[in-house]
Amino acid sequence: MRETAPVIEDVRTRAVLAPLAHPIRTASGTIPSAPLVLIDVIAERGVTGHAYIFGYSPVTLRPLVALIENLKEMVVGKTAAPVERMADFTAAFRLLGRQGLMGMAISGLDMALWDALGRANDLPVCALLGGEARAIPAYDSYGAVDPAKDAGRLEDSLARGFKTIKIKTGSGGLQDDMENVAAVRERIGAETSLMIDYNQSLTVPEAVRRIDRLAEHDLLWVEEPVPAEDLEGHAKVRAASPVAIQTGENWWFPEDAARAILAEASDFAMLDLMKIGGITGWQRAAGMAEGASLPVSSHLFVEASAHVLAVTPTAHFLEYLDIAGAVLREPAMVEDGMVRPRGPGLGIEWNERAVERYAL
Ligand SMILES: [Mg+2]
Repeated sequence: MRETAPVIEDVRTRAVLAPLAHPIRTASGTIPSAPLVLIDVIAERGVTGHAYIFGYSPVTLRPLVALIENLKEMVVGKTAAPVERMADFTAAFRLLGRQGLMGMAISGLDMALWDALGRANDLPVCALLGGEARAIPAYDSYGAVDPAKDAGRLEDSLARGFKTIKIKTGSGGLQDDMENVAAVRERIGAETSLMIDYNQSLTVPEAVRRIDRLAEHDLLWVEEPVPAEDLEGHAKVRAASPVAIQTGENWWFPEDAARAILAEASDFAMLDLMKIGGITGWQRAAGMAEGASLPVSSHLFVEASAHVLAVTPTAHFLEYLDIAGAVLREPAMVEDGMVRPRGPGLGIEWNERAVERYAL
């Protein structure tokens, strides 16, 4: 029996612009391809842990690569023990704080460390965490939808077994939202659950006004109606809303989850592995969500999210939005609207030819 996780020998980072099957159109801008940083934690015993982070904009890629290169000296020669390495990062950056690019870099390294630990033990991460590789209900996550042009795609979602669909709203006024949501509801039928996402684009009074009118379309949740950091604003919208409010994809580390729960900002919790502190941060935030009886959904990072949702007591939905499939050997599979975590580790393997082709 080995007493410790393998020792880290090197960290490698590469930036890619991964093509998306569909550009993501939101009320706060369009993302034509996915700017990703691929992280490899190379450890002894021939173990390499993989993870990726999503830069949102290509301008973040070179700074993120440089930042992770600079963090390398903090981990090389130490064990691939994610909880210990997170404690090192937390202590080292107490004064700087862990939000923004630093938080993304730390969270990415944490995911790659968990992947390495899973591979070193020949277990999927969900099993390493004490769970089983059970299938997680997923929803198909759209950008802004044109109900006529996207009719075929909506039909395809239903054919693939998705029973839940999310669309982006808020690019225009209330009338546009009314027509858009009504048309999508008509296309997908009454049996399919529908959520809408405002991507932080409204003020509190405007959110209250729109949600009041849109509620007739039987919405499962309204996501980020107002700016994410405005927890009190979310709480005000929530208090006035006939529809449940979802937020959380912009909570930085478990501390932000605690603040949002205390502010009663949300009916649900949507955790993003890259902002909540990787697998380590997710586990801690998921514990808080359980304590507050908040159902937990994931944001992006389909492959890794399936593992943590499998051990999240109040697991709700996995967001199916494939941003990395173009550079993966085996993109995440949807079966009957469900995604099952795959091992070893987080089940992430690079398609090296594609990585080369889409390298920045
Ligand atoms: Mg969202």
